[in-house]
Amino acid sequence: MEKIIVKTDGAVSEILIGMKWESAGELIPVSGTAIITDHNVNRIYGERFPDLPVFQVKPGEASKKIEVIESLAERLIESGIDRNGFLLGIGGGVVSDITGFLASIYMRGIKCAYVSSTLLAQVDASTGGKNGVNLGSTKNVLGCFKQPEFVICDPLMLQTLPEEEYLSGLSELIKTAIIGNAKLFEIIENNYEGIMKRDPQLLTMLISMAVNFKASVVSEDEKESGLRRILNFGHTYGHAIELYKSFRHGYAVACGMELSSGFSLARGYITDEEHGRITGLLRRFKLLRPHMIPADLVSQLIMRDKKKSGNDIHFVFIEGIGQAVTEKIPLTEVVKYYLQEKAEN
Ligand code: NAD
Repeated sequence: MEKIIVKTDGAVSEILIGMKWESAGELIPVSGTAIITDHNVNRIYGERFPDLPVFQVKPGEASKKIEVIESLAERLIESGIDRNGFLLGIGGGVVSDITGFLASIYMRGIKCAYVSSTLLAQVDASTGGKNGVNLGSTKNVLGCFKQPEFVICDPLMLQTLPEEEYLSGLSELIKTAIIGNAKLFEIIENNYEGIMKRDPQLLTMLISMAVNFKASVVSEDEKESGLRRILNFGHTYGHAIELYKSFRHGYAVACGMELSSGFSLARGYITDEEHGRITGLLRRFKLLRPHMIPADLVSQLIMRDKKKSGNDIHFVFIEGIGQAVTEKIPLTEVVKYYLQEKAEN
């Protein structure tokens, strides 16, 4: 088991990787706690949940909306959860975003913790304290920062995850390796079978490396005013592709990383060989899919990136495997590269 501490202004969060998820029951207050989960996770793991009130949401992105938060808050009031209450979210990124958001506003803020049950949540969503819900088709536009007391990442829970969800999470793991840890990239390259078999020991190591990196970035820049921006590698194109093609997030980000790596090559940041290793790895895990966005829509979709400032964006390039850099460039250049790349293919 590995314990990683995330320290931000006034909050300390413990990420417990390789711990049995059932241990959560020993880490939460005995009274005043409620569990938030989704129907799928409840169906598989619910029988082993601690004996506490359980509130379920429908699985999937559609539950990340203010009406769901409102209805959960009403149920917390009915259950007598007061300002000393505690929320334990058991599920993937949707459940942790909902739990964190609800905990940060309910009675002006109560404590929370997560058992992260998807690879995406374990390597990304549950570290960093960001949470958000969607407003119509605009993703994560309502949200705040709330550090959980602890997060349990039990790789054994990943055994029950559908393949598509598992690989979608793997894409974020590969992203972390590309932007921050060349050694992690090499381990992923050399352990295809172990990763596909979901070897718990190997996964504990990979998740720990990813969380360690994210924790170091977040501890330095919790509110994303500088360094934290590098975590958006692949996401400017990825979000546009996700909106247009409705791929799972990780697949869209993988396509975005392929483009961003190509863009880095075109601007002289990386070599052909490095670009080849990145695209080779994404292809090996079958993360790349066709995504021809029509020319008249590319600009419109990329302009919707909420990370832009005016007509510019701090675009994330890589300066070699394991090293990211941001450069403020006009959004028109981002659009131009997409169109040029797709026209060439
Ligand atoms: P998810 O929570 O929708 O889970 C994916 C699917 O897997 C769901 O159907 C769920 O019911 C099921 N599932 C979960 N655990 C399972 C298990 N152990 N066995 C079987 N099925 C299981 O999706 P996700 O990919 O975990 O998270 C995506 C969300 O995370 C997005 O809304 C995204 O915006 C958010 N996110 C947030 C942050 C952040 O910093 N707050 C970062 C990245 C992503």
